[in-house]
Amino acid sequence: MRIGRTLPPAAAPIHFRDLLSGIAGIIRGQRETERFRDELRDYFGVPHCYLVSSGQAALTLILLALKEVAPQRDEVLIPAFTCYSVPASIVASGLKVRLCDIDPQTCDFNFEQLQTLLEGKRLLGIVPTHLFGLPADVARLKKITEGRGVFLVEDAAQAMGSEWEGEKLGTLGDVGFFSLGRGKALSTVEGGVILTRCDKLGRRLDQAFARIEEYSVLQTLTLFIYALALTVLMRPWLFWLPKNLPFLRLGETVYETDFPLRKLTGLQAGLARNWRHKLKGFQKTRCARVSEWHSFFLPFSFLVRLPASTPLLRFPMILPTADSARMILASGARRGLGIAPSYPSAVHHIPELASGFVGQEFPAAAEVVRRLITIPVHGYVGRNDRKKIFSLFSQVKDGPQ
Ligand SMILES: *Cc1c(COP(=O)(O)O)cnc(C)c1O
Repeated sequence: MRIGRTLPPAAAPIHFRDLLSGIAGIIRGQRETERFRDELRDYFGVPHCYLVSSGQAALTLILLALKEVAPQRDEVLIPAFTCYSVPASIVASGLKVRLCDIDPQTCDFNFEQLQTLLEGKRLLGIVPTHLFGLPADVARLKKITEGRGVFLVEDAAQAMGSEWEGEKLGTLGDVGFFSLGRGKALSTVEGGVILTRCDKLGRRLDQAFARIEEYSVLQTLTLFIYALALTVLMRPWLFWLPKNLPFLRLGETVYETDFPLRKLTGLQAGLARNWRHKLKGFQKTRCARVSEWHSFFLPFSFLVRLPASTPLLRFPMILPTADSARMILASGARRGLGIAPSYPSAVHHIPELASGFVGQEFPAAAEVVRRLITIPVHGYVGRNDRKKIFSLFSQVKDGPQ
């Protein structure tokens, strides 16, 4: 156990003034969530926007709406390497998970394999994912799925506020969502945003949204206490504390299909107040860190392909071997450097799902699980931390490729 300065792997800090806006938001209630929703609609240029309790809840609501639009279809195609919440939402919506391997160079779909998975009439949706904030090629996906009646559900959970060729991520597919969870681009403790231009889907989402529950007073109070704790404890000189409290399960990935579907509270909308300005500030810092890491790691041959100046959420790297990844993770943890593994297993190896994928292999996803690590790019990463991270990596630079 480490006591002392410890960086979180990702951070979009909540400040005390945000807490005050949060309290004002509780008082303003629905007016505050409507303000946040209208600002989002305006900024992203979409007519339909819904605010819910998590990214997972957002995806679930989207899938339930899609199911009503195309009831004869019941499969959703996702990358074999992604957040556990994605397959969990599909299962929670009563749909079937289908997998496509990834391209380890981009963390996007392996498009050759994807081509072979489009036949048949059961595919309801495909979920292109901007993992770590790396933009997925939604335009290419659009081209190859054109006329097939398949919906593109853009998982922009980690990419709020980023753009690709002048277009805002989250608005490229038929429908998209962001997460406002801890460790995402912008955080309201927990929360999710759905965006769509499609009116037909908007009508279904209106109905689905009207049916979900509100947070109770007690749940709102708990959220506030959690926000207060995050405000204090996400600072590097205190983060070792929550990190060592096992019941908080920080950094753990859980597969859970029994999660709440709720409407975002005035508290959370209040915490998000001034979000465009905050997001811009965070993005600027992340961009600067990303280009620094990028130039530092160029001589190493294990970079994923990065578009120029993308404000990633975490800087991903695929190390030469699983052993070198383990070594870096262990020494990084001892020094509190915020270097983190990604997901603990590929989707087809998640224990609750594995029986559905017997005989199917997604080797790139399985390999990336063992070799991908991420380096923090948030504003708490100081000069000294950077030096320590640099020197850590100098040790593996000359290792086996
Ligand atoms: C975080 C995340 C989600 C789910 O968002 P929550 O708010 O945690 O439910 C979905 N997809 C990806 C890629 C994520 O990183």
